[in-house]
Amino acid sequence: MPRPQRPGNPLIRKYLRTSHPDQADARGLGELKPVEPAARREGVPLLVDDQVYVMKYGTKYHTEWCQVVADKWAHAPRGLHVTLLADVGARTRCKDCDRTLKAARTSSAQEHDMPSRHPPEPAPPDTVIPLRVIGVAHGVLFLAAGPEHQELLNETAVEPATPLSVGGRRDGMVIRLDAARAEPLLVVQLDPRVTFRDGPYQVRLRRPLLRSATKPYAVESVEPAPQT
Ligand SMILES: [Zn+2]
Repeated sequence: MPRPQRPGNPLIRKYLRTSHPDQADARGLGELKPVEPAARREGVPLLVDDQVYVMKYGTKYHTEWCQVVADKWAHAPRGLHVTLLADVGARTRCKDCDRTLKAARTSSAQEHDMPSRHPPEPAPPDTVIPLRVIGVAHGVLFLAAGPEHQELLNETAVEPATPLSVGGRRDGMVIRLDAARAEPLLVVQLDPRVTFRDGPYQVRLRRPLLRSATKPYAVESVEPAPQT
């Protein structure tokens, strides 16, 4: 049996290094100092001022809910921590966060540049917009709002872990709002264990929770409309 060689391949060395639990500090990144998040939404830790996301073995810190953070949350949520910006040590700012922030600012700036558009009247905190089912396929539910709600929904963001709420239970997750269509579309991923309920739905709006939000409204939840 050949004797195992000392790993000379840098990728293998990197793997061996990152698989060792105490190496983040030893690599000079600084000790991980997680803090309890000030708020959570459906379990998702939210940042307040001076806080950032870090990952147990990550070399970056995150100021936004970027794709990297979203992926981490989806696959290994226990490895996602909140820490103070002052405690990031030698971790560097994530490039994906820059892109996320820039995209949000660009779309916001474009909206402000359009002279023909004027912001919608401020929505009361519990604005409710009726939705109708236009399709359900492979566990994905498509709900449309009337064209009269397009302007308001254009100013509305979908934050992480926005629930499809049925009788106080989370039956799915709102994954997308497409307000570019004349009849704005809300896309909901149904929990695989639930049975789809046909009938009227509604979307409830509120003020955004995320610090990086650039739209004045966010989806609180999607829910079946009360039967009249
Ligand atoms: Zn990031």
